[in-house]
Order: sequence, then structure tokens, then C-alpha cells
Amino acid sequence: MVSSRRPNILVTGTPGSGKTSLSRRIVERLGADDYSHVELSAYVRENGMTLEYDEHFDTYEIDEDRTLDALEPVQARGGMVMDHHSSDWFPERWFALVVVLHAATEVLWDRLSARGYSAHKVRENVQCEILNVVRDEAFESYPNAVILELQSDTEAQQNEAVDAIARAVEQITRHEYE
Ligand code: ADP
Ligand code: MN
Repeated sequence: MVSSRRPNILVTGTPGSGKTSLSRRIVERLGADDYSHVELSAYVRENGMTLEYDEHFDTYEIDEDRTLDALEPVQARGGMVMDHHSSDWFPERWFALVVVLHAATEVLWDRLSARGYSAHKVRENVQCEILNVVRDEAFESYPNAVILELQSDTEAQQNEAVDAIARAVEQITRHEYE
């Protein structure tokens, strides 16, 4: 059955680029029966898969081995929409589609400030977007052909992103049947 072929999608991007809101929209569009959102930072927190607190980055280090073990059966079912800012420690085979989201630096600045991040943390994340850290990590970790780079400054762009992703998924699932 066609519906049993559900690719996993990685949504990556600098914090504030719009991964979580886009991932929810993707699940809505593709169907919540077949696709589920894994917001990784929440997932590891809820499942106690964190290690040390990293003071410099104001974040908890992830127990990657345990997390990968726990997610292996989830990815095997398909339809996993993984939402995380880093991408180099997942097995390449997990994802048929990797979305790299971007936001303009001034947009990012406002979103992260609104989130209550310290000036230091805002600056560091904006710097990260300017230097394309997340994008480069994705391109080093996955084949170019599976990567879709999208801009998400405005609602209109988010709508376009959802459309582009739905088209890509359609193409992937159709391909597997030829
Ligand atoms: P991330 O998960 O990458 O940190 P979020 O999805 O939490 O980013 O988005 C950060 C904030 O920006 C949220 O308040 C969200 O509603 C808003 N946002 C995200 N994408 C867009 C967009 N394309 N247009 C307008 N607002 C957006
Ligand atoms: Mn998020």
C-alpha cells in the first residue's frame, strides 16, 4: 500500500528559523495518522536523555547513543518528522528528505529576543545563521540531492515551504514505486 511508504524528514535550521512551527504544518498537511513530529530537544528532555548542562551554549548536552537507540524503531516505521538544529549524528539512511530552513538575521533576532533568550544567546544564534553553520553541517552529512533549502521569514514563505515539502514527499513516494 502506498500509505505504508512514509519517508522520514529532517527539518534543520538555526534556532528560531521556524523548524517547530513548520514541522507541525508538515504533519498537518501530510496527515497525523501517517506522520509524527519529533521535536528532539523536548523528546530528550521528556525521556531523560540529556547529559551535562553546557553553560556556554545554555543548553543540555544530548545522550546521543541512547537517543539514537530509542529513535531507531521510530524511524523504521517511517513518517518521522525530526526537528533539530544539528544533523551530523543521525544515520544518513534515516532521511529521504532534509529541509534546511533559513530566516533573515533581523527576523531571527526578533524571534529569539521574543523567546527571552539572553543577548549573548541571541547574538550567538544569529552569528550561527550568518556563518551558515547548520546549513554546512547538513550538506556535509547528507547527499545534496535530498536537501531542500527554504526561507521562512514570513507566513507566505512558510506556506510555500509546506507546499514544496509536500511535492518532494510526493516525488519520493512515487519514485519508490517505479
Ligand atoms: P525553531 O523551532 O526553529 O526554533 P519556531 O518554529 O519555534 O523556530 O519559530 C520561532 C518563532 O517564529 C515562533 O514564534 C513562530 O511562530 C515564528 N515563526 C516561525 N516561522 C515563521 C514564519 N515563516 N513566518 C512568521 N513567523 C514564523
Ligand atoms: Mn523548535
